[in-house]
Formats: sequence, structure tokens, C-alpha cells
Amino acid sequence: MDFTYTALPSRIVFGPGKRACVGAEVEAIGAHRALILCTPDQREQAQQIANFLGKRCAGIHDGAQMHVPIESARTAREVARDLQADCAVAVGGGSTIGLGKAIALESSLPIIAIPTTYAGSEMTPVYGITKNGLKTTGKDARVVPRSVIYDPELTYTLPVEMSLVSGMNAIAHAAEGLYARDGNPVMSLMAEEGIRALAQGMPVLRTEPKDVEARSQCLYGAWLCGTVLGHVGMALHHKLCHTLGGSFNLPHAQTHTIVLPHALAYNSPAAPDAMARIARAIGASDGPQGLYDLARQLGVPLALHDLGVEEADLDRACEIALANPYWNPRTIEAQPLRALLQRAWEGTAPKS
Ligand code: NAD
Repeated sequence: MDFTYTALPSRIVFGPGKRACVGAEVEAIGAHRALILCTPDQREQAQQIANFLGKRCAGIHDGAQMHVPIESARTAREVARDLQADCAVAVGGGSTIGLGKAIALESSLPIIAIPTTYAGSEMTPVYGITKNGLKTTGKDARVVPRSVIYDPELTYTLPVEMSLVSGMNAIAHAAEGLYARDGNPVMSLMAEEGIRALAQGMPVLRTEPKDVEARSQCLYGAWLCGTVLGHVGMALHHKLCHTLGGSFNLPHAQTHTIVLPHALAYNSPAAPDAMARIARAIGASDGPQGLYDLARQLGVPLALHDLGVEEADLDRACEIALANPYWNPRTIEAQPLRALLQRAWEGTAPKS
């Protein structure tokens, strides 16, 4: 065993109804006027948070958008300044938390996150901003939320399919964390437990979207998986999803859901311990096949052609994925990578 483990500072408040603690969390970071961030879709949830904040609420800004266009970040910063906000409370998924991070990056305004999906952005120092159609990402400790409130009741309204693909997206962070070059035993414990919790909760919420225990399991799993994403490097799976998503404008969580079993099968010969831990977490005999079976059982998209990708685009996707080399437990080679993409496009079972 040989590792370096640097933990990011984090404060987590978890439990059904915990959104009511938002005022205490604002005070705990020494702030008095919170600007609430949300998308137009989540204005009602933001209003609930405003009610809990009372006079500590400076206003609601519902300008969060997918991929954080730079214009939306500039506008939000101006709103925060005009309202003399001394912190921001981001209520929503990765896009809204991303807007909070973009504000924090320029102004050092502290952020409190109230995540309502399983994407995990609230636990990472990674930010993304889109300028002239190009998304650039970076890492900065200033964007890490000072406090995170996980309230499973806020996920009741997340549509079932979106919940399930978001859960598979979270599992992807933990699965790649298990073979990360800079991995460590603490992250591996979190990763395995995160996968277990999501694999246990998701089949229940498919039929009972308001089952508080299932929603709690999934959000707890999402926290663990997001923590892994924030602490260790990702590899083939995340790079492929980034390439496919950026080149063909594909939905984020669905792309992760489809690609995951295939990317893991590719890496399986080089990462047997990680695959054993994934298999154990989901109660299957094989990790990649078990995740494919789980996705099929959940009824989520299994094939890139379901997302509108043309078979003729696969060669280009393969070339782009090979263009910028990066670390991966197994060497990335054109032919097996193209075969992986073909299986992901068809939605057939994964093969190592
Ligand atoms: P999202 O934030 O884009 O949300 C999708 C839609 O669902 C939005 O309209 C949102 O308002 C709505 N929604 C979210 N939660 C809801 C709820 N509980 N009830 C009803 N509607 C709800 O989706 P996402 O998958 O959470 O985030 C994806 C984005 O986050 C991507 O841009 C991705 O790159 C980024 N991301 C960043 C990191 C990071 O570490 N920086 C990590 C993961 C994801």
C-alpha cells in the first residue's frame, strides 16, 4: 500500500426536511444576506428556501442554465453585487451549483449548496464555464461549497428517468475512482459504499419515487460518489462521455449511463480489484455486466443510437477520444476503443 490522501474541507447536513436548517448554515459561515440561485424550473423550491431564510434572503435569481454560459455567470455576479449578498445558496443540480461556483471563482462569495440531483458537483473543486460555445473546466478550492444540505425530500420532484440516469452518473464517479491512479483506501471505501447505496435505492424509487428511504439511500450514495469525484482523477469513461457529450451535444447523465458498462469492461483486465468491488457493491458476479443488467432493469437508455448518435459518427468520436492522450489503467488503443463505441451505440452487453 502506498498513497497520499488530501481531504477537501466539507460540512454536510443530511436528512429529510433538513432544508429548514438553511438559515443556521448561512449564519454558521458568518453570512447575513443570501442570494438564492436556481433554474426557472425550480423557482418553487427556491421560494421554499427563501421562506426558511426569512430576512436573511437577499433575493432569488433563477438564471441558472446548462453548461454555465459566461454571460449567465456575469449576470449572476452583478445581481449578487447589486443585492449586497454576502453568500449564495444554490438549490438545484450540477448546472445551478455550477453557476454558484462561477460566482465564487471571481468574487470569492461563499456558496452553500442544496443539491437536488445525484450529479455530485457540490463535492468537487471543479468548475466549468462556456464561452463562445466552448466549455472550459478548471479546478479551484475557492469554488468548493462551504456547506452542503442534502434533503432527500427535494429530490421527490426529480422525474423518475432523470433520477435513475443521474444515479448511474454518480456510480460512474465511484467506479472510476476505484482504479484512479491517485486513489487511496478511504476513497475506495466511499466508492464501494456509494455504489451499494445507489444500487439499493434506485430500483425502489423507480416504482415509489417518494419513498423517503430509497431517496435517502440514493442521495447518500450520491454524496459519497461525488466525494470520490472531488478527490481522485477520472479516466477513460469520463473522457469518453466528455468527448461524446461535447461533440454531439448529448445529455450528460444519459451518456454516462450508456457508456459506463462498456468503459468498465474495457478497463476490466487492468483493474480486477476495482471490478470485484463494483460486483460486490451491486451483488453481481461481474461488475460491468452487473451494471448493464441494473440499467436494463431500471429501464434507462442503453444505446447511443437512442440519443440520436449516427453510426457514421463513431469513427470521428473514436478519433477525437484518441487525440488527447491521458492516463488510464489500460492503454487506449484504436481498435478496441472503436469496438467499445460500437457496443455502446448498439446497446449490446459489455465485453472486455
Ligand atoms: P441539471 O442541473 O442540468 O438539471 C437538469 C434539469 O433538472 C434542470 O432543469 C433542473 O432545474 C431540473 N432539476 C434538478 N433537480 C430537480 C428536482 N429535484 N426536481 C425537479 N427538477 C429538477 O442536471 P445535473 O445532471 O444535476 O447536472 C449536469 C451538469 O452538471 C453538467 O453540465 C455537468 O457537466 C455538471 N457537473 C459538474 C460537476 C463538477 O464537479 N463540476 C460534477 C457533476 C456534474
